[in-house]
Amino acid sequence: MKEMYQALGISPQVYTFGKAVEEELAGRFLELDGRAEYNQLKVLAALQKNKVSAECFHSSTGYGYDDFGRDTLEKVYADTFHTEAALVRPQIACGTHALAIALFGNLRPGDELLSPVGKPYDTLEEVIGIRPSRGSLAEYGVTYRQVELLKDGSFDYPAIAKAVTEKTKLVAIQRSKGYLTRPSFSVQAIGELIAFVKEINPSVICMVDNCYGEFVDTVEPSDVGADLLVGSLIKNPGGGLAPIGGYIAGKKDYVENAAYRMTSPGLGREVGASLGVNRSFYQGFFLAPTVVRGALKGAIFAANIYEKLGFSVIPNGKEERQDIIQAVTFGTPEGLLAFCEGIQQAAPVDSYVTPEPWDMPGYDSPVIMAAGAFIQGSSIELSADGPMKPPYTAYFQGGLTWEHAKFGILMSLQKLTEKGLVHLS
Ligand SMILES: *Cc1c(COP(=O)(O)O)cnc(C)c1O
Repeated sequence: MKEMYQALGISPQVYTFGKAVEEELAGRFLELDGRAEYNQLKVLAALQKNKVSAECFHSSTGYGYDDFGRDTLEKVYADTFHTEAALVRPQIACGTHALAIALFGNLRPGDELLSPVGKPYDTLEEVIGIRPSRGSLAEYGVTYRQVELLKDGSFDYPAIAKAVTEKTKLVAIQRSKGYLTRPSFSVQAIGELIAFVKEINPSVICMVDNCYGEFVDTVEPSDVGADLLVGSLIKNPGGGLAPIGGYIAGKKDYVENAAYRMTSPGLGREVGASLGVNRSFYQGFFLAPTVVRGALKGAIFAANIYEKLGFSVIPNGKEERQDIIQAVTFGTPEGLLAFCEGIQQAAPVDSYVTPEPWDMPGYDSPVIMAAGAFIQGSSIELSADGPMKPPYTAYFQGGLTWEHAKFGILMSLQKLTEKGLVHLS
């Protein structure tokens, strides 16, 4: 094994260091295996209950009327997440689009949207109109309110109690920290928050941005009272196979409202050809629980490797996981660059290119990104990025297999040692 790694550029020192860390994680990995097993059965049960057959993999074009495979897949999602309905479509371009559809479909002028968990994901600032933006909810007369988290990252219940009013129509809760340093929320904590909000105003719609959270736990926010669950298919639930797409699952009325926004009033979910993606949607969803397990093992492995070497990591090596994202703070531009170079060099696609920082639209400093993915931009595949500014934090996630995630992390460590930024004793 050591020789195989060496042939791929991993030194015996790095290999041995990684091996020792992996051995310490055996117990945690076993726990993840149990969760993946449970979730695998959950998806399987939904596939069987809905009598998925070869017919479901047929494709439709044009309007896509009566696309049996598409409609059955939506039942599979709904049954897996224990919701009344789901919308799972290639017409949903990404996670932001799915969230925008859910919001625009369920909010009307004069309504108020509340985030009780602080600032939402960057791209949502423009959807909501926190940053002025064409076509935002703000332009349509939907107001927005935000309650900050407490210093320790927990919910500020007294402030939330004041912020939920008669005007509040929808409460948006982001499960994953995204690119912030706050903790990601457990499903249980989200359930408590939803119960609290509903006690004040039972008619409020509670929507959870579930991006990066699917199958991390054996329960989902929809199991603890969420009315809407929203996510991207080029993250967890696509299992690495979905080439595009997003989903919205939840109460039938609210999902219908989103469907009329996705296509058009009057058309709703009836329209939308599946264009040949049905099979990859099904197969990706079937694989998702074990793919997520691989990504989680990679995240925990990275946290423990870099924590041991003295870097600050969020979550830390011991913490319970709520999503697949791992942050590692390097403190120097060289460290962040070397890490990303290693991830890139370990990729199955584009392994020969060197990532370079660039001025990405919407960011105030150059951003470096490492990704060598089969699906462009897919972040359930091993990928890393970070803004080139202090404290030089790399956010990394994904890995279609644990073996590949492990290799990527060892390669990042290899780069750091070669540049003299890390010394293994
Ligand atoms: C990725 C992500 C989004 C947006 O998804 P895109 O597919 O990038 O548009 C929204 N919220 C969270 C928490 C995310 O991680």
